[in-house]
Amino acid sequence: MAIDVNELCLKANINSLRQLGIDDLDGENICDKPVSSLTEFEKINLNNIINVHTKVADLFGVSVPELFPEAIDVDILETTMGGLYSYAGGESITLGVYPETNYNMDLGVYTHELGHVLSGGGNPKLPSSFADLDDSILFTEMFADMLSLSLFDKIIIPVEGQESCIDRTRYITRGQTYNMPQEYFLSDFSMARVAQCCQSYTIEKSSKVIKNLCEEFAKMGEFTVKLTTPFDPHTVVRKSVDEHQIGIPLLSFMNELSVVTKLGMNNIFKLGFKHDIPKSESFTCSGTLEDKILETKVVEINTVRSFMEDLKASLLFADQLSFDLLFSKYAIEKGLEFGDLETQGYVIRKANIECLKTSECQVACLKN
Ligand SMILES: [Zn+2]
Repeated sequence: MAIDVNELCLKANINSLRQLGIDDLDGENICDKPVSSLTEFEKINLNNIINVHTKVADLFGVSVPELFPEAIDVDILETTMGGLYSYAGGESITLGVYPETNYNMDLGVYTHELGHVLSGGGNPKLPSSFADLDDSILFTEMFADMLSLSLFDKIIIPVEGQESCIDRTRYITRGQTYNMPQEYFLSDFSMARVAQCCQSYTIEKSSKVIKNLCEEFAKMGEFTVKLTTPFDPHTVVRKSVDEHQIGIPLLSFMNELSVVTKLGMNNIFKLGFKHDIPKSESFTCSGTLEDKILETKVVEINTVRSFMEDLKASLLFADQLSFDLLFSKYAIEKGLEFGDLETQGYVIRKANIECLKTSECQVACLKN
């Protein structure tokens, strides 16, 4: 609960909002000022934040104060990179905005960052599955993007009537599947797409902020990507996978599912992120030393695979058929296999086998 803040910040459940200039990183806390003394643009941003927090709280069926165990801090920072320079901490969001735009927030990007605060926050009022899922690189960015899509149908909201190029970094259409080439899922792909957009003729017609962004990109080097290798979850080098790109087919799948079932993304979201989701994957982990089993533990967790199974089970029968058709159209199994490989490491950590601490025992976890 926010304390000693003005009524708009109280309503948003934030402790602070600072609008920081490119050369001024010591902005005052707008929440400390009475609402009557706020500028028009400060009020617009506070009302935007209230609006997003209210809509997100509604998706989870909680109130705004219940959305965060602790009120959060928000910094809006002018940067040539705009929304691309945004990040979230445990209880804070830093949102990049283009300079000289009156701190105009991209609400899609803000909502994405809010998604990180929520899935990583350990809030008992939010879905219990977050505790496990937030550890998965298949999940974290996908979830944050899904939250934006549920509210705005877009992740990065382009400035109306303008080529912005940065919306190319995450663009969800129908038909983005795990049958796409491997390079699509690796770092550099989205950068290459922005770079390509920056070189296109449309950029000539763009505003100064976009030209500045493109100049910044040009300074970062060349990004070219050749799409040649089929995606293989078992051989792809995990370190080179882009956490944002790897979840895109899941989002594309859910986008089409939301259309064919007429549920809309917000209802798909509500079905997928209920408060209590049974832990539906179970593993037996053993610690062995010189062929002797020293310790055995059963670990039950939520995974992206169990999330998808639970989502399907929450649908009406006819919609489950659509789910199955789209599941194969989008080659979702390949994505889940990628997730399974990662789950192994997580399960071993979660098993917390004692003999690992004192000896050189070997730990292996098998799915039950
Ligand atoms: Zn993110």
